[in-house]
Amino acid sequence: MIIFGTRTTNPTAGQGMFNCPRCGPQKPYTHKKAKRWFTLYFIPVIPLGTAGEYVECGACAGTFDMDALHYDPAAEQAEMFDRLRRLSVLAMLHAQRYQPENVAALQTALQGVTQDFVQEDVIHQDVQFAQQAQAQLEPVFGQQTQDLSADGKTLLLRIVLSTLAPSRQVAAQDHQVVHRAAAAMGMPPNVVEQHIAAYVAGQ
Ligand SMILES: [Zn+2]
Repeated sequence: MIIFGTRTTNPTAGQGMFNCPRCGPQKPYTHKKAKRWFTLYFIPVIPLGTAGEYVECGACAGTFDMDALHYDPAAEQAEMFDRLRRLSVLAMLHAQRYQPENVAALQTALQGVTQDFVQEDVIHQDVQFAQQAQAQLEPVFGQQTQDLSADGKTLLLRIVLSTLAPSRQVAAQDHQVVHRAAAAMGMPPNVVEQHIAAYVAGQ
């Protein structure tokens, strides 16, 4: 009787350090490439191709897909904060609120979220870029907020509101820009109104 079958082996395809999604930054990993084999009498004889690839953490033994090798929460967070800042700057320009008190309000609002103090120069640079690019409000808000959660969009709306109306008096031009930006993010107008009302009421 000829006994045949298949078997999967998990040879190591690479090693290095990565930011483990489970146990934290700078952990050793092994990259495993599962191979399927045709076996004869339990001996692998013919490779049947790659069955799958994964990354195994040397510290917690967790296994993750290959994307984990590019997982960098600190960089992702910094990128997200930059994005919130640039979008707020864009709203500031479109509401014609590029005044020292608005820049200061944006700095305060961002600090509340990120714990980092953003220098004025950074904001002025964002303004220059947005002006040079003639960045339109709706397309940029629509495109740059696609991966934000509902809470993320609400957070951005609050930052924009605090930037445009530091005194919590939301003028017509602020109102309009907030609604346009929110509509581009897919927020219903009545929800936007609730956020504005809550902000005006000091909540
Ligand atoms: Zn780990």
